[in-house]
Amino acid sequence: MKRIAVFGSTGSIGTQALSIIAANPRRLEAVLLTCRSRIDMLREQIERFHPAIVAVERPEDAAELRREYPNLRVCCGRDGLNEAAQAEEYDVMLNAIVGIAGLEPTLTAIAFGGGRRDGNLTIALANKETLVTGGRFVMSAAANAGISIIPVDSEHSAIFQCLAGNKDNAIKRIMLTASGGPFRGYSLEQLKSVTVEDALIHPNWNMGRKITVDSATMVNKGLEIIEAKWLYGTETSRIEVLIHPQSIVHSLVEYEDGAIMAQMGFPSMIVPISYAFSHPERWTTDTRGVDLAALGALRFDAPTGETRRSLDMAYRVMRESEEYGRDSGAIALNGANEALVQLFLDGEIAFLDIIDTLEHVLERHDSRVVKGIDDIMDADRQARESALSLVRRQRRSVATPGASQDANRGH
Ligand code: NAD
Ligand code: MG
Repeated sequence: MKRIAVFGSTGSIGTQALSIIAANPRRLEAVLLTCRSRIDMLREQIERFHPAIVAVERPEDAAELRREYPNLRVCCGRDGLNEAAQAEEYDVMLNAIVGIAGLEPTLTAIAFGGGRRDGNLTIALANKETLVTGGRFVMSAAANAGISIIPVDSEHSAIFQCLAGNKDNAIKRIMLTASGGPFRGYSLEQLKSVTVEDALIHPNWNMGRKITVDSATMVNKGLEIIEAKWLYGTETSRIEVLIHPQSIVHSLVEYEDGAIMAQMGFPSMIVPISYAFSHPERWTTDTRGVDLAALGALRFDAPTGETRRSLDMAYRVMRESEEYGRDSGAIALNGANEALVQLFLDGEIAFLDIIDTLEHVLERHDSRVVKGIDDIMDADRQARESALSLVRRQRRSVATPGASQDANRGH
């Protein structure tokens, strides 16, 4: 029996993971659940799965849960999340938190899991922001502690599956596929007027709001280039992106001998989540098959257009990381993006402002070496502030007739 800790249990990945746990009662058990909001949904999960530990954000929610469930250990706030990550009650951490908030629990799990008597801890990682911001530390700490990190992100799970039975030092190239999101093929003019509702409709995947917007801007694919680099140690110059609107091929690995392995399937996160739990076995899921003859053809294109800029930013920050060991650019890209996506979802900025402002944040950013979690959190905070101040300045220039059209540019 594997004991699973679901960090982010009320989200898109978290709820799908719980459905897999429910479908495998003799193999899997949910022993720890965490969430930030949606406490009613958490209550239903507690009734159904009877975890030993939960962690929530707000003290008032924690107090109520303690009253309702006297035998449940209830942790609270950022400290509570770390306390939960230190628990010995679980064998697998599924990290399905969204954003940089997922980094510290991962690091805590590695620090404490490495010292477990049985030495057995697996991290099933959906939270890509963990690797984008702290990849260097996370991968080396996990390797030192003998902890496996199994990717849940569909592209990275695909690569993981393509690597099975092969030596990863024979990788020539990784090809990450991208659906292109809801605005694939849109002109600059069209992109100027897209709404939050438009951005939240993804053609192939049903996901949380932040990653859905990231898919529309293609920042998601930029973050995934960085995620793949840390997971597989492949320089980013050998990681390419292919637009594949059907989302049937989830990614590909080309080997030195010319062989290309691809992993395919109906677009559903159930497969990568289930595989992260079952590896090296494969368990039955109710995922639909793919009728290739009915599809007739699979389409692939090179990324072009406005959203290509999001990929270029990822390559740029990773050059600094790979040549000089300066990781702050990736942290800035991620932190500014989190702040800007929230502003977009709140109706405060337009869609293209996300990409424009990100470029300006990176132009003003002095990349530097980061030495640990405190430096990472500092770089994150500074990038958010930089993004917010650029947005405010842009607003003032719009509100003041005759002000510079290009006030957004850093000096
Ligand atoms: P979501 O918004 O649906 O769920 C996020 C979960 O994290 C919720 O339970 C929420 O309560 C919790 N949470 C949010 N902010 C928090 C904070 N500050 N502290 C603690 N907990 C917090 O997100 P999602 O779509 O399930 O995505 C989760 C992660 O998985 C993201 O990193 C995303 O990039 C990645 N991912 C998601 C998908 C998908 O299909 N949804 C696919 C690939 C990768
Ligand atoms: Mg993905």
